[in-house]
Amino acid sequence: MGFVTVSRIENDHISPTVAMLEKLARALGISVREFFPPARRIKRRRPEVAMVDENTQRTRDPWSTKKKDPAPRGVHRFDRRGERPAGWQILFTCGQHHRHKEWIGPGKSDAIKAWHSRKNRVHDEPGWCPREEQRQLEATRRAREAQAVTVRQYAEQWLTAHVAHEYRERTAEQYRSTFKHHVYPAFGECLSGS
Ligand SMILES: [Zn+2]
Repeated sequence: MGFVTVSRIENDHISPTVAMLEKLARALGISVREFFPPARRIKRRRPEVAMVDENTQRTRDPWSTKKKDPAPRGVHRFDRRGERPAGWQILFTCGQHHRHKEWIGPGKSDAIKAWHSRKNRVHDEPGWCPREEQRQLEATRRAREAQAVTVRQYAEQWLTAHVAHEYRERTAEQYRSTFKHHVYPAFGECLSGS
């Protein structure tokens, strides 16, 4: 086969015959098949009844590779990576239009449940944002702490207002000493409310 013929085939001017292809393949040391790119698999809708006897109509393609129980769009699985174990993360938009990510854990159903529950809160409480909520809780806790009295402050008050008046000087002194040496070192700075 002349190179002009080959060139014409390459440039799509002529179509090679089967005999030509066989010659070319032999020359190149390949099989004729390899001239043809692997056919793209055409996904043809299988006729719904084709695989089935008349009585049992299947709604799902029997060869379907689709997941049987797909997770909602906002629920994603992550493979194990370094320290982080495999598990599920959810993604949702809060009431203030942020996109929030939240790592749930190894359970898919937990992730789906959590995702629905966040969605419901966004729906039920306009403007709800988990980050904002966390910030407010933190602020409340700090405010309460600021108001709280430490054990030492509380005890001093009690010693002054009560013990000093009700008890003899020696007894009051003993109380003071007990607090000073035993209570304050351990609990002095604890909050009296806790
Ligand atoms: Zn938010």
